[in-house]
Amino acid sequence: MFYDAHNHFQDEALVPHLERLVSAWPQLAGEGGEMVVNGTHPSDWPRVAALAEAHAFVRPAYGLHPWDVGAPRPSDWLQQLVARLDVDPRASVGEIGLDRWILDSAAPDDPRLGGVPPASMNEQTEVFVAQFALAAARNLPVTVHCLHAFGELLPLLRAHPAPARGFLLHAYGGSAEIVGELVRLGAYFSFNPAFLDRRKAARQEAFRAIPEDRLLCETDAPAMPPPPVWRTHKLPSGPDGFAPNHPGNIEAAYAGLAALRGVEQAALTARIADNFTRFFGPAW
Ligand SMILES: [Zn+2]
Repeated sequence: MFYDAHNHFQDEALVPHLERLVSAWPQLAGEGGEMVVNGTHPSDWPRVAALAEAHAFVRPAYGLHPWDVGAPRPSDWLQQLVARLDVDPRASVGEIGLDRWILDSAAPDDPRLGGVPPASMNEQTEVFVAQFALAAARNLPVTVHCLHAFGELLPLLRAHPAPARGFLLHAYGGSAEIVGELVRLGAYFSFNPAFLDRRKAARQEAFRAIPEDRLLCETDAPAMPPPPVWRTHKLPSGPDGFAPNHPGNIEAAYAGLAALRGVEQAALTARIADNFTRFFGPAW
């Protein structure tokens, strides 16, 4: 049974395929398999909530993503987040985080950024800390995105208490060297099969260094498609020429992680089921 610890099933890119994906999921993931569907801005939280209401395999997560901090948002967005968490006991906080890539490296017309101007690191930090503190105060699971910003994130994690249950670093892109300190701070780490690309040797090394009881798997669908040899499930390209990642590629995350750690996939799958329910809570 597979758990997708991080995706965006509500994303517009998946809408044309949603009905088919919903009916295929029990077979793709196994009976009882679940996914954590992450909102990124108050405007997509209603779609996340609707999916969670309709499908028992969806666990909702609500957050303001660092890529969306530069977009207009309602002045009461944090109260709206509190209200979302209040109505669903399965809800967690995410996706939140810090991103220096959008400031230093991204092309301004990168379609993934949807025309939203990058927010300064100060503003990203303020938004991140408010949401992380909310998760900590309620001891809720929280999912963190960190791209080219571990230099900023680590001091914040040292200074601000994390939820007692820990926090998830999704698609962990930091070094193997800082894994030990992150584990002591409470981190879980989700493996994305995009890291199976031969050019991602540093990511693979980091995932060999992570203790087995802190591992999770994810797709980040419709983002981060795995390299072609690992892409067991495909979706057709949309009008922009972009082929969305298929959540069925969660299987490649498990198979690829087992291969790179040199362990049996069945044993790893059982371990990750334990980790998932310890971190996100028992099945509904
Ligand atoms: Zn994501």
